[in-house]
Amino acid sequence: MPRPILATIHRPALRHNLARMRAAAPDARVWGVVKANAYGHGIARAYDGLRAADGFALLDLDEAQRVRDLGWRGPILLLEGVFESRDLELCSRLGLWHTVHCEAQIDMLAVHKTHQPHRVFLKMNSGMNRLGFRPAAYRAAYARLDALPQVDEISHMTHFSDADGPRGIAHQLQVFLEATRDLPGERSLSNSAAALRFGGEPAVRADWVRPGIAVYGSAPDAPVHDAQHWGLQPAMTLSTRIIGTQDLQAGDTVGYGSSFTAEAPMRIGVVACGYADGYPRHCGTGTPVLVEGVRTRLVGRVSMDMITVDLTPVPQAGLGSEVTMWGRGPGGALLSVDEVAQAAGTVGYELMCALAPRVPVQVED
Ligand SMILES: *Cc1c(COP(=O)(O)O)cnc(C)c1O
Repeated sequence: MPRPILATIHRPALRHNLARMRAAAPDARVWGVVKANAYGHGIARAYDGLRAADGFALLDLDEAQRVRDLGWRGPILLLEGVFESRDLELCSRLGLWHTVHCEAQIDMLAVHKTHQPHRVFLKMNSGMNRLGFRPAAYRAAYARLDALPQVDEISHMTHFSDADGPRGIAHQLQVFLEATRDLPGERSLSNSAAALRFGGEPAVRADWVRPGIAVYGSAPDAPVHDAQHWGLQPAMTLSTRIIGTQDLQAGDTVGYGSSFTAEAPMRIGVVACGYADGYPRHCGTGTPVLVEGVRTRLVGRVSMDMITVDLTPVPQAGLGSEVTMWGRGPGGALLSVDEVAQAAGTVGYELMCALAPRVPVQVED
């Protein structure tokens, strides 16, 4: 028998979440954001759950190639655009739309030989200060692109820094709207958080929304709201089994560094999942976990291949009992990846993306 750890990708949840994002941004077209190998879910595995999207947005050219190889003929957008001139040849060949965020990318386009002019998304830095042209330089960039025979259609794009937080998007929205006011072309502004929180405003949902995390069933603004609040379902479950148990006496310690000490006699389960599987080492005693669908807690340190859990709330559990690290447990029990992420001081995004290659993955249709 293989080591019992297993990740399950729930395609029905992907379909549901995508539909949920459509409802959040009515009339807008929806990019399914599948960068980072579909946030760790696997592009090929997620594809069938996301094929109702209007396009796929990603970063890596080889990921674009994989989406085309899966048979997708619709739009694909490179969210960071090209990295060198050669990449434009692949854009021409695969019909990729690409972001243009700096002068160097316009220079590359200007000398690119193509029969088929490209569709580009011109990116504005409206306050995030990562990629994009500042508002004052935006029109000149637009004019340069517009004059190129290599360019067909120009759309407008920006990205919010605080769509999930108290600062919100109003300041960036205003900058973007003002700088693009009389320019023709489609617009795309919103990630999951912006679409869910502010998608009721037509200018925010605009022509295209770009949800990633919500499609995978994690709340973009956790812990303020959870996935259920937004009507999202987990698309990834990480499950495993108990491979050993120990009966502790008061004063016994558990694991490396003896970070947990039993205050009274108790039983613990040893679980086949550790940081080499992608489970965060920063999760400490108290991190929630499901054993046979019953919520209990981690005790002691996460080690490379194992964790230890308190079996007090599940006295019937023992060798072979099913353990849910996040996602769906038996009997409809749920444990959000966001709760586990919070215990590790991080976000659900990181946990999903960090699922380790050694974990076998199955797909549920
Ligand atoms: C990753 C990304 C998104 C998706 O963000 P989520 O928070 O996962 O919805 C949208 N737009 C851009 C430019 C991105 O890089």
